Amino acid sequence: MADPITQFLVVYNDSSVYDYVYHIIDTTHHVEEKDSAFFDEEYQERERRQEQKVCGDGSIWTKSTELTLKEAANKIGFDKTEFEGEAPEGICSKCWKKVIKKVSSLEDTPTEKLGNYGFRLRWKQKDRARKEWYDLIVSPDTTLEEIDSLLLYNFSTLSNAHVRMYGLEGEYVQSSLEIMPKEQYEKAGYPSYTKATEITIGELSERYTLWTDDRLSMAYDLGHPSRFYCIFKEALKPEEVEEQLQSDTISKTETAAIVRKKPSSSRSTNEKSGSSEENDIGIRDKLESELDDITKD
Ligand SMILES: [Zn+2]
Repeated sequence: MADPITQFLVVYNDSSVYDYVYHIIDTTHHVEEKDSAFFDEEYQERERRQEQKVCGDGSIWTKSTELTLKEAANKIGFDKTEFEGEAPEGICSKCWKKVIKKVSSLEDTPTEKLGNYGFRLRWKQKDRARKEWYDLIVSPDTTLEEIDSLLLYNFSTLSNAHVRMYGLEGEYVQSSLEIMPKEQYEKAGYPSYTKATEITIGELSERYTLWTDDRLSMAYDLGHPSRFYCIFKEALKPEEVEEQLQSDTISKTETAAIVRKKPSSSRSTNEKSGSSEENDIGIRDKLESELDDITKD
């Protein structure tokens, strides 16, 4: 497990203007090497920090330095040397909150290989998060192709008419993963893209240290993109995944299944008379869903 003090660094810039807040980067966030022929080192460094930035706001300046929290405290003049409580003056409060969340989930992160775990992923569409969502149970061996097929089949706003591209949190048109469904890859993909059949959830979580509260995103129709994303709701051991795959599912592939959805009755053939939507979804899901809506869409 990484030490939060060396994992999260403040990107500081001397020449910052009045009112600028300093963002925090997650140095364990893997950034793909880009073709360096056209860009100087400074530019590349800025790009890397931009991708490692913890929040989705603002931008990183060139000619910045990375400081530990303690160094930043001395430089900027606040008295915090640990990630706890309210954000200190000068530090981006969004970054700060997310770091605190990440640090507490790091403490729960198992020391075993992350790639051995499955997950419950809640997939939503941005701006329609309350209207329609799907809980997918995935095993470490589930390919992105399987996930894609479940989403395509179930989401009322998806069809095969446009390209779908998968990426990490916060990326959708500019995806660094560039994962496409196999059929679309074969028709339209570039050699640098990855076929969804060739990457599994286990490989992704291992490579990008994905854990609960992390996200993946998907862009649909790159001309007029609409954004889909999932939240890693729950980590599951392979036997827990297996158990859920054996019980009632809405639709499934070999290693993954949709186990819950909202609205609960569409496309489902077994109408349960008299049961309200709230009962079907359950209080826990309702609260979870509302919390998601409040925190971020
Ligand atoms: Zn920030």
